[in-house]
Amino acid sequence: MGEALPDPRRRIMSPAAAETPVYSIVIPLFNEEAALPILLHRLEMLLERLDGPAEVILVDDGSRDTTGIVAAGRARTDPRFRCIRLSRNFGHQVAITAGMDAARGSATVVMDADLQDPPEVVLELARKWREGYEVVYAQRSGREGENWLKKGTAALFYRTLARVAEIDIPMDVGDFRLVDRKALDAFRAMPERDRFVRGMFGWMGFRQAVVPFRRMPRAAGVTKYPWRRMLRLASDGIVGFSDAPLRAVLWLGFAISAAAFGFGLFAIGAALAGSVVPGWASLAVLLSFLSGVNLTMTGVVGLYVGRIHNEVKQRPLYVVSEAVGTDSAAAAMPA
Ligand code: UDP
Ligand code: MG
Repeated sequence: MGEALPDPRRRIMSPAAAETPVYSIVIPLFNEEAALPILLHRLEMLLERLDGPAEVILVDDGSRDTTGIVAAGRARTDPRFRCIRLSRNFGHQVAITAGMDAARGSATVVMDADLQDPPEVVLELARKWREGYEVVYAQRSGREGENWLKKGTAALFYRTLARVAEIDIPMDVGDFRLVDRKALDAFRAMPERDRFVRGMFGWMGFRQAVVPFRRMPRAAGVTKYPWRRMLRLASDGIVGFSDAPLRAVLWLGFAISAAAFGFGLFAIGAALAGSVVPGWASLAVLLSFLSGVNLTMTGVVGLYVGRIHNEVKQRPLYVVSEAVGTDSAAAAMPA
């Protein structure tokens, strides 16, 4: 056990790999065993229709079901598929990043495993890329099979973000997109830990195009984005791409100080006029109100401090436990 373990990322990027693909399709998977067989089938159909060789990178984000085993098995037997298994669940945005780090194609597509992003749309994304666009978004022009609460909160989130963020983040765009090699390299040079991938692509510019599509209902299984995670994503997006909350807190602080000053003048006036009443109620109200405001403000500042803390730790973004690629598969399976 003395020798160093081989670096899995080196292994999957080794030049021994077969021909370099034109397209890389990155798919994050977390407990998707129900959707996986349908997904693989639809992907095969897509691969046949694409105008160039493609590789599919299945990123198993620490699934606790058979997703990882099935995905790795496919990568072992089918040279068009590769599989990266993360050592635990790192979250959607990091899983996407892991897949993009491994992509070798000239264009990389990211899409969900549950077929809410229909694979056929990739053909249209590719067409735009051939026209010379470097980042091509798939934009949800309608969403099926999602309840009004999810649609409503999503709409509210995208509109708030568009207002407060200092960069252009297209509306109603998720992580379904195609990026050119240039944009991908720029993305990989961004080391931030709290990743809000769609904001990062908005930040980097390049020639961007949008392809509208109807978002389908999930093919199988249940959403892996419970409320807690959606809130987390929303706060990562807003806090990561805007300091509007900090500025809002500042102005609120000023407004409250001004009001308190006015109240102070009134209190002094009342005292001088000799009409001082036992004033307990007003004191209690003011005190609890102000401490509430105080806590909120500290909390907002804390969000930013937390992010700084996360950055300074300088940990790797993710840990790969197993990588099954074309070349490593050949080594593992002398056929
Ligand atoms: N996903 C992931 N890691 C997670 C959560 C989700 O890789 O921790 C994947 C999931 O398997 C799917 C995609 O991210 O391919 C989007 O998740 P989901 O469809 O559950 O989100 P929704 O469409 O409901 O917002
Ligand atoms: Mg989904």
